[in-house]
Amino acid sequence: MAVEPLVLVEKGALTSEPPQSGPLVDRFGRHLEDLRVSLTDRCNFRCLYCMPEEGLPWMPDAQLLTFDEIERLIRLFVEIGVREVRLTGGEPTLRAGLPDLIARLGAIRGLESLSLTTNGFLLKHLSRPLAEAGLTRINVSLDTLVTEKFERITRRDALHRVLEGLEEIERYPSIWPIKVNAVAMRGFTEEEIIPFAELARRKPYHIRFIEFMPLDADGTWNNDQVLSGEEIRQVIHAWRPLVRLQDDTSSTSRNYVFEDGIGRIGFINPVSEPFCSTCNRIRLTADGQLRTCLFSVEDTSLMGLLRAGASNGDLERTIRSAVWRKELKHHINEGAFFVRPNRSMSQIGG
Ligand code: SF4
Repeated sequence: MAVEPLVLVEKGALTSEPPQSGPLVDRFGRHLEDLRVSLTDRCNFRCLYCMPEEGLPWMPDAQLLTFDEIERLIRLFVEIGVREVRLTGGEPTLRAGLPDLIARLGAIRGLESLSLTTNGFLLKHLSRPLAEAGLTRINVSLDTLVTEKFERITRRDALHRVLEGLEEIERYPSIWPIKVNAVAMRGFTEEEIIPFAELARRKPYHIRFIEFMPLDADGTWNNDQVLSGEEIRQVIHAWRPLVRLQDDTSSTSRNYVFEDGIGRIGFINPVSEPFCSTCNRIRLTADGQLRTCLFSVEDTSLMGLLRAGASNGDLERTIRSAVWRKELKHHINEGAFFVRPNRSMSQIGG
């Protein structure tokens, strides 16, 4: 597995003070413009690679950021350079009043993109309110198109609901693109590759394969389980030729279109082709902790400051200081050097 040949140069010492104005940057000069906000750690699925069958000890409601706190923080983040917000979970559609929150966030000047990552279970019912509230993009997690395998991996008999939800969201062109994210795992995904490629040609969905990452709650991940993006690309290319597209610098996905122009496929390869050198992402957990990397081993509490009556100036200084110290990269492929993050995926959000 590859270790990314980083070209980043430290522009400031870890101990030096970050710039107190201008765009949000880290000491390697990366601009942090993409904020992932988890609305809850709860989920109505029990995906094998994410959490145990009985679920996890959920955060009590009092420990979750309120909508007022979320709106205040996102307004501040947008003031200092964030341009994209993605709402995640657990499963964000379980948070009551989600369309109202989206309407409030959608009204924030300077916010260019407001998206949602969902397992799609409630999408048929929520598509219209989400569109009317101003959602602009959506990511639906779906690892298989086989009913029995879906039930085996999510511990829910719900494939039909997710597919119905996708069909419903198609009716709202204001939500575009519709991305479908499939976690790629060796011994599970191989049979799904061509059916997903066919789906990309049949439907207006951008199908993306995401390499399995060590964020599982039971900590059993290992490299042998990773089915690399390149392996999948070769299978699809042999089936129907793919043409590489020009991606945005900070794009996590390597995107392709079929030679005849019908259908779009992407590969998100954090394990085999890490993309930390162009990372523009930070995360806010449902309990108000700022995470500067998906694989952070520590958080910076904004919740504590908020509830202690901190000013926006105090919050901004704390955010800038934490982001300045953002991790250079993940160490997944560096054996003992890799330390598992202090939270599992459902407690961080995608
Ligand atoms: S591992 Fe961390 S630094 Fe690398 S791309 Fe992901 S969030 Fe960014």
